[in-house]
Amino acid sequence: MFMSYRQPSPERIQEAVDLALASGMLMADTHASFTHAPFTAFPSAYPRAAYNKALAVAIDFNQLITRVAMDHDFLARITHDIASADPFTAKLFNSYLETRPADRALPPGLGLFRSDYLLQASAATSGDWSNALRQVEINTISSAFGALSSRLSELHHYLAARHGNIDSQVLPSNPAQSGMVDALASAWRHYGEADAVILFVIQADERNIFDQRHMEHMLWTRHGIAVVRRTLAQLSEHACLSADSHRLRIENQEVALVYFRAGYTPSDYDDERAWQGRVLLERSMAIKCPTLAMQLCGTKKMQQCLAEPGVLEQFLDDQQQCQRLRSCFAGLYRLDDRKAVDRALMNPENYVLKPQREGGGNNLYGQDMRRALAAMDKSKFPGWILMEYIRPPRSSNFLIRDGQCSAEIPTVSELGIFSMCLNQGDTLLENRALGHLLRTKPETEKEGGIVARAAVLDSPCLVD
Ligand code: ADP
Ligand code: MG
Repeated sequence: MFMSYRQPSPERIQEAVDLALASGMLMADTHASFTHAPFTAFPSAYPRAAYNKALAVAIDFNQLITRVAMDHDFLARITHDIASADPFTAKLFNSYLETRPADRALPPGLGLFRSDYLLQASAATSGDWSNALRQVEINTISSAFGALSSRLSELHHYLAARHGNIDSQVLPSNPAQSGMVDALASAWRHYGEADAVILFVIQADERNIFDQRHMEHMLWTRHGIAVVRRTLAQLSEHACLSADSHRLRIENQEVALVYFRAGYTPSDYDDERAWQGRVLLERSMAIKCPTLAMQLCGTKKMQQCLAEPGVLEQFLDDQQQCQRLRSCFAGLYRLDDRKAVDRALMNPENYVLKPQREGGGNNLYGQDMRRALAAMDKSKFPGWILMEYIRPPRSSNFLIRDGQCSAEIPTVSELGIFSMCLNQGDTLLENRALGHLLRTKPETEKEGGIVARAAVLDSPCLVD
């Protein structure tokens, strides 16, 4: 699992940085100026068996999430529980209840998910890494970095072929961006209104803006579909529904599909009008990516509940499919599992405590986790889960940020698999994997975000 690279020369670093900039692999920094997204100088080794398994289970997870999102009683039971301890989830849940149509069928829903994995090194039995794949979480809303990840894969591929330091055949192609764009176009076509637009729901101060702009541009060049971008608060004023049919209109344009790149974190709703905007969108007959129900399926608590004995079987008939999914679960525990909590208090280094939040920086480790567990009131338990700590195999790489390359450092990598599913009721019209994101971070870093500057973009070099 170890690739050995030499420190790249200043000339090679400059070449890589120039190409990253030229390809549009960009992010905004805090001062309204721009830099390339951080990336590794070279691809990192990744076991082929684990990569293939992660691709294969994507369609199983899609099926599972679709079914759970359709099961009102199950969704309501789990989410009601979380809502009792977490006001943000409570608001999402209330919006879901408020907008469930009593008198008409639900419009189709589009899932653009990213399931993230770390390898539990100690679980790789006799060199079989497919047993070591552990899901960190599944993102069911605003799965980011498809467009930038496709660019990094092309960059690594080019540098490998050009300089001959790696066999470019072992670098898998990564059509994440075109896959996501085609998925949006597919849902748009399903709506069936040639003049309708796609609405991107965005954050006002998005730093990962180019990841979205590339998709927007490709929707136009490849499919002739126009995109309109608005924040939730803007929508409460500029959007409306037709009285008879719930068609969604923004400034006289009909919206076929609402694609959320916001709406997953409390700060997206600082303004009370943002909740009004969300409810308006959900109530409309536009296709949502995702629906509120799908979003609620991505909570950490849902992940923990789905991992409990017998739960997968409630949604999937195929035993082998359940087995495949279950083999990707890390240990997941509720906080009223006293034995698990005691184990975490005794050995905090083997666990992580997670709240119902998305977007990084919320998890508690080590002594922070211990203190929080010891002090937590029982009424808050449903707002958190306890998870087995995953220790991936160590690799090494050079991290390039703001044009500067680090010395060689020990690293670990987290693989994300993008997937799409389009459903009409419980029928899956389309269901496939789209591409990948490999994020690599210093071995000592706990969090995994790129925008938060913990990790950098990477690409896998598949090894047997
Ligand atoms: P978020 O919704 O904030 O992205 P995650 O569950 O993805 O929440 O956790 C954030 C980061 O924390 C991950 O990208 C990963 O690097 C690290 N992490 C999460 N769970 C674990 C775990 N069980 N073991 C080790 N690291 C973890
Ligand atoms: Mg995450």
